[in-house]
Amino acid sequence: VIVTADAPDPDPDPDPDPESVGLPVGIRACLFDLDGVLTDTASVHSAAWTEMFDAFLSGPGCPDGANCQPFTESDYERYVDGKPRLDGTRTFLQSRQIELPDGQPDDTSGTATVHGLSNAKNNLVLQKIKKDGVETFPGSVAYARAVGAAGLHRAVVSSSANTRNVLAVTGITDLFEIVVDGITAREQHLAGKPAPDTFLAAAKQLGVPPAEAAVFEDALSGVAAGRAGRFGRVIGVERHRSDAGRAELRSHGADVVVRDLSELLGPAETPGR
Ligand SMILES: [Mg+2]
Repeated sequence: VIVTADAPDPDPDPDPDPESVGLPVGIRACLFDLDGVLTDTASVHSAAWTEMFDAFLSGPGCPDGANCQPFTESDYERYVDGKPRLDGTRTFLQSRQIELPDGQPDDTSGTATVHGLSNAKNNLVLQKIKKDGVETFPGSVAYARAVGAAGLHRAVVSSSANTRNVLAVTGITDLFEIVVDGITAREQHLAGKPAPDTFLAAAKQLGVPPAEAAVFEDALSGVAAGRAGRFGRVIGVERHRSDAGRAELRSHGADVVVRDLSELLGPAETPGR
């Protein structure tokens, strides 16, 4: 775009076409969660939380009289998925009536404090990512490209402090105008999901009111944040869960639930039709 001194300011998003990407008229921005929506890392986080909590629950740190049964998939979905790391640790421990001191941010991995357990979980995630790499979902990358071509704004909104790293190694950084991640949230004192604050901060930075932005989320905490922020559309993503899981995403705030974002682009064109 060439802008001369005499020309009026160019329209930031001339004629956005949300319907071409399966979104209602009036939507001008898409706010994407990272883990489980853009990248296939939700399973990495789930495995890391399970390994960390099971080591704690089966060890001497689990207090007498507390529920020290192993961590379950349901625990992951209800108490941990999508939340900032420290909130995830605290919320799960509360669910088992286990009280631990917060400790210090640099507590050694595995120390029986909220920080120590959270650090152990993060180390496991980094190890797993280093060992196995990170994959994007092709349907999500295609969708993000289509959203850009349709003239809508694009942001990543994730609780993860590893967001920029993961975007860089997967080569999709350039698809997004802005990133609001765990580091931004800490610096700007934004409450984590299920509070809507990180999504609201992204919309504000893009200059788009919440009613004109769509939220894409795979976590119960994330769709709840979309609902709490009164966003124009909340798209739940569920890839492996049961019908009950789909229903749960809806009951927490998803307007629609898809298996893959490519579904929103409509049926693939068939030759001869
Ligand atoms: Mg997620």
